[in-house]
Amino acid sequence: MPPKSKLGQNFLIDPQAAGRIAAAFGDLSGRTVVEIGPGRGAITGALASRAQHVLAVELDRELASSLRTRFAPERVTVIEQDVLDFDFAAAAAKAGERLCVAGNLPYYITSQILLKLAAGHKALDTAVLMVQREVADRVTAHPGSRDFGLLSVTMQMHGPVEPLFTLPPGAFSPPPEVHSSVFRWRFAPRFAELGVEEEGFLRFARQAFAQKRKTLVNNLRAAGIAAEAAAAAMEKARIDPRARAESLPLKALAQLWRALSERQSGERSEPPV
Ligand code: SAM
Repeated sequence: MPPKSKLGQNFLIDPQAAGRIAAAFGDLSGRTVVEIGPGRGAITGALASRAQHVLAVELDRELASSLRTRFAPERVTVIEQDVLDFDFAAAAAKAGERLCVAGNLPYYITSQILLKLAAGHKALDTAVLMVQREVADRVTAHPGSRDFGLLSVTMQMHGPVEPLFTLPPGAFSPPPEVHSSVFRWRFAPRFAELGVEEEGFLRFARQAFAQKRKTLVNNLRAAGIAAEAAAAAMEKARIDPRARAESLPLKALAQLWRALSERQSGERSEPPV
């Protein structure tokens, strides 16, 4: 079966990498792992030999049917489905535990998958994922670095994201044009600890990071927050009035959200933005 580039099919051929991905979860005995895009099964075997069960979600009909002949159904359930439609909460309820998630992600929907995992965090324990190196740099970035942005904030608010290792194009067939990196994401949401409400804070983050070149005040102003209100909240949160959102740690962004929230709760009962 020739690879379908429109489905992001770059198959892993580095024999050690699959083992490193599975090992990055630590002890998988008794656990259920969802594998996103198992393809020809390069990572599936390494997961199945360590976990109790693998739910392998593959969109390509031919690959799904070939995986069914390769793996015993007691170890690997192959689900022919678009992962964007996969119900992680229902799978976790059926497994009776929060799920582990693995995958060498199809690059054309990487961000959508990451946002789906963030939104479904209650059903999830740990994810070990391979993505384009540039995306891994963004999701693991620290505040103040060139790569720190909305995706970093959204993911890191759902738990720590650690870079693990990088593979060259030659580790795949056919080789992609870019390097790929693996990271680990432990789902441990920080909303309660930082005193913010999830939906409102993430909406605020989208507005704070709307335009990279603009200062935070200007982005908030574009979102309909009066410059005076934004300036007062920034002073209260001890943030430089010329700051850009990219320079602020999660804690400072949360302080600002709370300051805006408190200020606006006097004016209306709605969340701040
Ligand atoms: N895991 C395999 C490996 O490492 O060799 C394949 C990885 S390949 C980068 C991405 C895989 O995701 C392909 O098998 C592709 O068919 C599958 N895929 C693409 N879009 C998908 C989708 N929306 N839902 C589920 N699987 C998808």
